[in-house]
Amino acid sequence: MEETTKTTNTVTKLARFVINGELDGFPFEVSFRGKAEVLSATVAKLKAAGATSPKASTPTVTNASAAPDAPTHCPIHNAKLKPSRKPGTFYCPKKDGDDYCDFKHTI
Ligand SMILES: [Zn+2]
Repeated sequence: MEETTKTTNTVTKLARFVINGELDGFPFEVSFRGKAEVLSATVAKLKAAGATSPKASTPTVTNASAAPDAPTHCPIHNAKLKPSRKPGTFYCPKKDGDDYCDFKHTI
């Protein structure tokens, strides 16, 4: 009987889906094998049951214009620092005579 050696072939044709969600604040995970239609039907059933996507409640991280630990002013001139061309580096725009202030801050 070569039947037993072929049994996995039909299973591997079906994709494996994992759905992570939340129901009344409790996270859950559903995994199953099936076609895409089964996935959409399962999602519809979960939604009908009141389940939500865990990503929906996750606060999105927006790119802040300045890092919170960046100094805003030069300690010597009390001048507002400006971001330099090098990302994460700030410089003082004031001059000491003919030379620019060399106060720099790197995040
Ligand atoms: Zn300065």
